[in-house]
Amino acid sequence: MQDLKAISRLFETRADFLTARPHGSGHINDTFCATYNQAGREIRLIHQRINSHVFRNPEALMENIDRVTRHSLARLVEAGHSEAHRRTLTLIPSCDGLPWARDAEGGYWRTFPFIEGALGYEEIENLRQAEEAAKAFGEFQKLAADLKGPRLHETIPDFHHTPKRLDALRAVLENAPKDRMERVGDDLEFAFSRAADARVITDLIASGDVPERVTHNDTKLSNVLLDEATSEGVCVIDLDTTMPGSVLYDFGDMVRTACPTTREDEVDLSVIDVRMDRFEALIRGYLAAASFLVPAEVEHLAFSGKLLALECGIRFLTDYLDGDHYFKTHRPGHNLDRCRAQFALVRAIEKRLPEMEDVVARTENK
Ligand code: ATP
Ligand code: MG
Ligand code: MG
Repeated sequence: MQDLKAISRLFETRADFLTARPHGSGHINDTFCATYNQAGREIRLIHQRINSHVFRNPEALMENIDRVTRHSLARLVEAGHSEAHRRTLTLIPSCDGLPWARDAEGGYWRTFPFIEGALGYEEIENLRQAEEAAKAFGEFQKLAADLKGPRLHETIPDFHHTPKRLDALRAVLENAPKDRMERVGDDLEFAFSRAADARVITDLIASGDVPERVTHNDTKLSNVLLDEATSEGVCVIDLDTTMPGSVLYDFGDMVRTACPTTREDEVDLSVIDVRMDRFEALIRGYLAAASFLVPAEVEHLAFSGKLLALECGIRFLTDYLDGDHYFKTHRPGHNLDRCRAQFALVRAIEKRLPEMEDVVARTENK
């Protein structure tokens, strides 16, 4: 294991290192919780090594996180929030005054105060969690909405550019293995039949009807810490993919991950549907916080779930035809199964779209 004591010396902790151990169940970075003695009081810090295979430019990524968290903290303090330091991640600078430090092997590290008394959940257990998570992501976007200065770095260019995802699918067809092409069947046709849907949000951004904003881009439940006692949303974490985007990508990914009746690789497509109670909870929480939305954003909230499911299905299909290089697979055809489950979700949302739009309208007018 890493020498966390050596890592601790790279940061301005103003405290004496006691112990450290691996923490949480993140899949991307290496996360450790360290205990310190600070003037006789025990405190905890998170030390995290950034996965530099996934994030090729850690310094740009850290500049984004530094700017967004400083801005959010300033806004919370201005508003007189009693728990400002618990409501946003904050960075503890390195001894060189930077938002990151490098270890002896060149690895990039960052340090956050540990958000106490709050937990992240892998699976949604009840509607309150869905509502509180959506509210927390809405608040995160709201705090970042008036960030001044240059545009954030686009650390993963065209992350949610769905038309380009379709182009990438088209591009892998040429060299796709014959046996995989044969197994695919009408999934390809399905993907290309929704080409017009794929363009809706990028066109709205291009026309200026949907503004570019600061977005989180990984809005799953486990990236919000909920208060242990009250389940209230406390703090949005995991800001690696925070960059310019549309809030519709964030909300759509909440719908995609929180609302299906089944897990992401369900093979019985007949049971895939939208949990309407979950969708209502997400809308309730999100609209309660996201008071800054323009009409075109509100109008596409229901559609955004369909778009994100379509985009994700296209990515699974592309990876399947490309030989499973990107997503980890646990059985042959896993990516194709995942693609089909996403496309089944697209169909389910299409069927329920009027009902979902009705939920948005009713909640907005409350
Ligand atoms: P993912 O697989 O979601 O991309 P990741 O590897 O990027 O995860 P994080 O989500 O940043 O890692 O952190 C991993 C876990 O560590 C979180 O799920 C959370 O439980 C915990 N954690 C991270 N930062 C903090 C913090 N400041 N305070 C308390 N717990 C934290
Ligand atoms: Mg995470
Ligand atoms: Mg992450």
